[in-house]
Amino acid sequence: MQSTESRPIPSNVDPSEIQKFSDLAHRWWDPSSEFKPLHEINPLRLEWINNVVPLAGKKVIDIGCGGGILAESMAKRKALVTGIDLSDKALKVADLHSLETGIQVRYEKIAAESIAEKEAGQYDVVTCMEMLEHVPDPASIIKACARLVKPGGKVFFSTINRNPKAYLFAIIGAEYVLQMLPKGTHDYEKFITPAELTQDIRNAGLIVDAMKGMSYNPLTQIYSLNSDTSVNYLVACTRP
Ligand code: SAH
Repeated sequence: MQSTESRPIPSNVDPSEIQKFSDLAHRWWDPSSEFKPLHEINPLRLEWINNVVPLAGKKVIDIGCGGGILAESMAKRKALVTGIDLSDKALKVADLHSLETGIQVRYEKIAAESIAEKEAGQYDVVTCMEMLEHVPDPASIIKACARLVKPGGKVFFSTINRNPKAYLFAIIGAEYVLQMLPKGTHDYEKFITPAELTQDIRNAGLIVDAMKGMSYNPLTQIYSLNSDTSVNYLVACTRP
């Protein structure tokens, strides 16, 4: 992993968010830990991405990669993957896991906006999952993603909608009732409606191709992709 400790601290970051993920980072690859939901949704999102754009041989960057669940799974599909995040600990865990599995991913501690300046237009695919709801200025991350992708390339986002149902499911249900996530994982004010996300995506010069809902059935404990975008959702975009 390359580190850029000497760079000035980027402004579009909430240090308490990074701390939250760093504190739990050692459990990132434990499928029964706080990261269980990410492990469970990963095959669904990976399949969806790979259907939109077959990953083999593609140059991919994963923004806010954390411990590397999605990044490594895309590399396993023979994509050339870079993962960036601002949590040292999460990146160390990601690096160690990749050493263990032998699935190579280039991890780097750098802000999305900074790597977008250095590597503009170099990627076939950009993914940014479950991250926008943890940053002060999601529009700036979306712009960085749009800069990183080549013309004709694809960008994928996922986040959480903002409405009473999302509050009930993503905060009360997941953090308090089912205790799937630590209390305080999510902040309702930072949730993003599909209309807001679509506007930011368009402002960044991308075109929205498709939107999918992702829901969790607490009785069967199964996640599925469908058309219900009321809580968790994913968006696929193209840079014209
Ligand atoms: N994208 C991964 C991890 C999601 S958890 C997945 O879906 O599996 C959210 C991640 O975003 C954490 O690893 C956290 O450190 C990272 N993050 C939060 N704010 C960030 C920022 N401003 N820049 C880069 N990464 C950030």
